[in-house]
Amino acid sequence: MKVLKFGGTSVGTAERIKNVAGLITAAGRNIVVLSAMSGTTNTLVEISQYLLKNNIPGAQETLNALRRKYQDVVDALFDNPEIAAECADDLNASFSFIARLMEGDFTQAEEKEVLAQGELMSTALMHAYMRQQGIHSVVLPALEYMRTAQGGEPDMKYIATRLRRMMDLAGDAQVWITQGYICRNAYGEIDNLRRGGSDYSASIIGAVLGLEEIQIWTDIDGMHTGDPRYVSDTRPVARLHFEEAAELAYFGAKILHPSCVLPAKLHNIPVRLLNTMQPDAPGTLIANFPPDGTIKAVAAKDNITAIKIKSGRMLLAYGFLHKVFETFDKYSTPIDMMATSEVGVTVTIDDTRHLAAITDELKSFGTVTVESDMVIICIVGDLEWTHPGDFQARAINALRGIPVRIISYGGSNYNISMLIRATDKIRALESLNRHLF
Ligand code: ASP
Ligand code: MG
Repeated sequence: MKVLKFGGTSVGTAERIKNVAGLITAAGRNIVVLSAMSGTTNTLVEISQYLLKNNIPGAQETLNALRRKYQDVVDALFDNPEIAAECADDLNASFSFIARLMEGDFTQAEEKEVLAQGELMSTALMHAYMRQQGIHSVVLPALEYMRTAQGGEPDMKYIATRLRRMMDLAGDAQVWITQGYICRNAYGEIDNLRRGGSDYSASIIGAVLGLEEIQIWTDIDGMHTGDPRYVSDTRPVARLHFEEAAELAYFGAKILHPSCVLPAKLHNIPVRLLNTMQPDAPGTLIANFPPDGTIKAVAAKDNITAIKIKSGRMLLAYGFLHKVFETFDKYSTPIDMMATSEVGVTVTIDDTRHLAAITDELKSFGTVTVESDMVIICIVGDLEWTHPGDFQARAINALRGIPVRIISYGGSNYNISMLIRATDKIRALESLNRHLF
């Protein structure tokens, strides 16, 4: 058995839902994880923002537009009036639920409940459509098994036990359908695995059940050698090691949610990235492949801020880096890249919410300079340092003529990262694509 996850665009219209239903049926008896239809989660966020600001008409108007959209989908999806009516009832439960929250104060917990409706509506649509097609599908409600523990990490043991029991109790099914993204937290409240978290749901399910494969279906044929938005002649990468995929997902390849790789890697379950528009294309297979000494892809991470702390007193002293890191730790701000020298250190962050407070504190240890609008370019592959190859030389050569603020290699065997100005990004990506592939 496999787990197949379909993202928002894959179920974004009635046509796409029909198409995906065909793929699901052809794949056999698997677990299908669905995202909200594309645009829905954003609309639900918008509704919540109106409600948090107590702008009820704004919320109502946005909700009504969403309701119309789903009505159109129901009209296009079903020719069986009975099934159409039942499905419309299920969707109405979500809309009425949101409408009821418009009375009284709107809390952050209620916002999570609003956000959960998108995935619930997707599974309602797919389940009803399967029924119309004569397929016996069983919905596994994510809110009954997907749970995070204190600290927000998925509670793998609980999820495994609950999910197994639910599947046993349900008896037979031709297809299992479940919601991505949504869960309950340690207090039993409705919560989610953060934006884009449906990939993570699929990976958790694949891992806890020890399934054969985790398939992530999107609208691009796998992880590409470069970002097709900026570089023209990219091609899909056939095979990636888990570590390479993790670097790429984290450093900007939007196709896969960064958290998704970890459960798959720990349980050694291959992840396959596939394209709903070209279901026969090979896509990308992510697994525990042996080292092959090649560069796989280049990705870029935007909106990076570099912070330099220079201290004369750092010379031959210890404890300086500790103090610097402690400051970031205090403000729960992760550091992406760093470069050190005898007299200073530069680190990069992408979460700038606490930038002012952080720089203020860092000023007690040294002179602080901040550079914003930077980009991390990340070259990913099997870049084992003892390899007599020329990864570094080729990467640096490709960036000839482009100012490079930081170069980082050796933190892992899998990436060379360079920090450059955002304005040089496209030029850098194009040149790397030409030189490396
Ligand atoms: N629907 C959620 C989002 O838009 C989760 C997902 O699509 O993965 O973020
Ligand atoms: Mg996604």
